[in-house]
Formats: sequence, structure tokens, C-alpha cells
Amino acid sequence: MSMRPSEAADPVPSAEVSQEAAAGPVILTASERAALTGLAGPVARRLEAAGVTVVALCFVDNAGVTRVKAAPLGRFERAAGWGIGMSPVFDVFGVDDSITTSPHIGGPGGDLRLIPALDRATPLAAQPGWAFAPVDRYTQDGRAYAGCQRSFARAQVARAAEQGFTARMSFEIEWAVGHDEDGRFVPACDGPGYGMTRIIELSDYSREVIEAIEAQGIVVEQFHPEYAAGQLEISIAPNDPVGAADDSVLVRQTIRAVSQRHGLLASFAPSVVAGGVGNGGHVHLSLWRDGSNLLTGGDGRYGLTKEGEAFAGGVHDLLPALTAIGSPSVASYLRLVPSHWAGVYQCWGRENREAALRLVTGSSGERDIRANLEVKCFDLAANPYLVVGSVLAAGLSGIAAGATLPAEIVGDPAGLTDAELSARGVGRLPTSLPESAAALQASDVLAEAMGEPLFEAFLAVRRAEADLFAGVSPEQVVAATRWRW
Ligand code: GLU
Ligand code: MG
Repeated sequence: MSMRPSEAADPVPSAEVSQEAAAGPVILTASERAALTGLAGPVARRLEAAGVTVVALCFVDNAGVTRVKAAPLGRFERAAGWGIGMSPVFDVFGVDDSITTSPHIGGPGGDLRLIPALDRATPLAAQPGWAFAPVDRYTQDGRAYAGCQRSFARAQVARAAEQGFTARMSFEIEWAVGHDEDGRFVPACDGPGYGMTRIIELSDYSREVIEAIEAQGIVVEQFHPEYAAGQLEISIAPNDPVGAADDSVLVRQTIRAVSQRHGLLASFAPSVVAGGVGNGGHVHLSLWRDGSNLLTGGDGRYGLTKEGEAFAGGVHDLLPALTAIGSPSVASYLRLVPSHWAGVYQCWGRENREAALRLVTGSSGERDIRANLEVKCFDLAANPYLVVGSVLAAGLSGIAAGATLPAEIVGDPAGLTDAELSARGVGRLPTSLPESAAALQASDVLAEAMGEPLFEAFLAVRRAEADLFAGVSPEQVVAATRWRW
């Protein structure tokens, strides 16, 4: 099959959209719409004072691509209450813009309303005159759209809150900066991995990336040159889960914009050069109750509390299914190879960068705030809202089941024989998209949490992308996806 978007096999599928089946209870009444419009007034004035004339209303689709409708600032207040129209069909778009279909979503019919999150409307430091706002998607009659990934994430946060839990999360952002020369990636710097040389080579660029992100109200915790050619990384401060997903989207768009102002391209793809070390999108998370971090201060291993371990156990046990959500592309499996610090084994370990689940205890004296779990197998092709929502759902299922963590794995599991791995109960995570999609399909926990319209649309895109790249060489997969996310 061709990989060229323009040659996609069936760009206009015939299934009818069934928005009714994909809608939640009515939540936006006329008076609520009026109230939202009123609340948007001061936000619009703040944006105007910052020189904004146009707002980019963004959501991330099931292929992990950030899609957008923009509106002049003069339409912003109305959009806050009534939304901006956009087809539901984007939920069955593939990474190449080909269109598949799912039981509830597909075809040319229907319309959704993009309603901006007012608290996240942000002037864009590297795009003068522009602002960014993530959106929640509603049907025309004001019902929460069941295919909306951000609403799914919010629902999981609410479920956790009902049980007295809050979570803090953040995404690490790795990217490769360079040029595309006839389909080949040419890095923008030559210096060694983690080397100061790269920062000197890219001095203004690196500083402007950090400054632009901080100007947008996001705290940068650290920045460093990574291992692969032209690869850099930003770590940002933890946030509530939906906020962390918003941050991940905004940080990447900012890095992309600064890159282009320097005549460079940024690749967030899982695999930038076939066979090389790829870009991860590791997620850090901690779980809290009554102001206490449940990953420390308890009687369990490394101070885990019973609930903290159960949450971690739930995530651990569902890692094969979660891999479909966090590593959702055919290209993701070019990155997921042993001994590349991508965490391709279903195991955990304190500070073990080859375990899919790394326990970070933090330094003595600040463990109460720093102890966290890092899911290492995920990448930035993932929809971050689906990542935070599904990780929360997995952790909550672990708490409901009283899950525990198995024995810790120390060192690189790739150094163990098959017999040793199986004696320790350590499995390799899925090595292909069809394999992870099958694990997800079999997960009742994630099917129930996501709800059928979202779950089926997400799986339909996985199947379509697996078909798209079936029998295609790694080099061609990488060339087709390098600049898509
Ligand atoms: N680039 C590695 C990955 O693919 C991660 C390196 C690190 O541990 O930061 O996930
Ligand atoms: Mg890294």
C-alpha cells in the first residue's frame, strides 16, 4: 500500500456518523453557555492586551496529531459558550491523513463544537499575535462528546477525586532538531550526546526554546542534549493530569515554532532515524491523598504506601494494553527495542531506566514531594489526554483490586535469559502495533473507562495504521512519519 496521503485507499468512507451514540448526558444549558461567554470576556481582554488577534483552538486526535481550528479574537467569547464547528471524522484520521471508520464515527456527516478551556488560553511566545487554547468537544446540542479525549482524561481525574485521590503528572519531551534533505534527517548540531558542545552550537535556539516555554507560564525543570544525533530534551514541572497533557501539547507546538524561526525542523517522532535511539515521551506521575504523596512515607518497598503500590501495580499489570495508547504508531515499535532506555520489559525497578516502570524515590529530604513513577515505554506519537486518562484508569483498577508489585528488577532485563525472565515473571512488552492493539482490545478496564465510541475509534485507527505500513521497510515508515507529530 502507498504511504502517500494523497493516494490513501479510501479517503471518504461510507459509514454514517452516529453522534447520538457518541454523546453523553446534556451538560451545557443555554444559561451555562451564557455564563461561559461572560467568563471569556476578561480572558479575551487579557489576550488582547498581550497583542493576540487570533486563537488556535487545538485538540489531539487518535493518531496523536494536533488538529486545529483558528478563530479571530473577536469570536473568542462566542466560542467559549457555543464553540467552533469541526467534523467528528478527525477521530478516525490516521497519521497520514487517510480516513478510516469505526462503529460510531466516520463519513462526512455531523458536526462537533470545539469549546476552549478558558484557563489555558495562552499567548504564544514564538508566534506573535497568536494564542493557543486546548478544547473540549461537545455535540451541537451541548452534550459532552464521548469521543473527546480531553473529556475522557477529565472524567478519570474526577473518578480518582471521588475516591479521595489526586494525581500529579508531567511528560518529558524529547525531540531531534535538524533539516530534511531528500527524506534524510540531518541534525542541526554535531556535538556529543549530553555534551555542552551542542548547547554552544545551538545557543540562541536552546535559550529561546526555554524562554518561550517559560513565558507561557510553564515551569521548565531542566533542559539537556540527549543521546541521539540532534536530540534534545525538556523536562517540565508536574501539573494535574489534564494540565500535564495540555502542557505537553503546548510545549511541543512552542518548540516547533521556535525551531522554524531558526530555519530548523523539530521531530517528535518515536523514530527519527531507523535503527537509532528514538524520542521517548516518558510520563512521570504521583498519587496523592489528603496532601500526602502515596509513593513515599509508607511501610512498603522504598517507602511505598499500600495504596501507592496498588496504583503502581495496576499500571504495571496493564502495561501491554497501555502500550497501544502510549506507543500507538507503527513507528513506535522501531523505538521500542531493548537496551535503548525505552523500557521495553513489563517490570519495575528503582531508578532502572530499562524497566517500563521506573520508581523515582527522589533525594532524602524531599521524597515527600519528589517520589514518582515514570512510565518509560511511551512516546510522543501518543495522544497525551488518552495517556493520562488510561494510566489513571489502570492505577485505579489496581487500587480496586488491591494489586501489588512483583519482585523488583535490577539492571537491564535484556541481560537475562528467557528462563530467568520467565522465572521473574517479566515479559517483553508488545513488539508491534497489532500486538499492542490486541492487548488493548482485550482490556475490560480500559474499554470500560474509555467508553465504546472512543475505544472503538482508537482501535480502528490502530488497525488502519498497521495496514497502512504492513510490509513497509523501517526506513520508509520513519520517512513517512518523521515530521507528523
Ligand atoms: N530516548 C530514550 C527513549 O527512547 C530515553 C532516554 C532517557 O532515558 O531519557 O525513550
Ligand atoms: Mg531522555
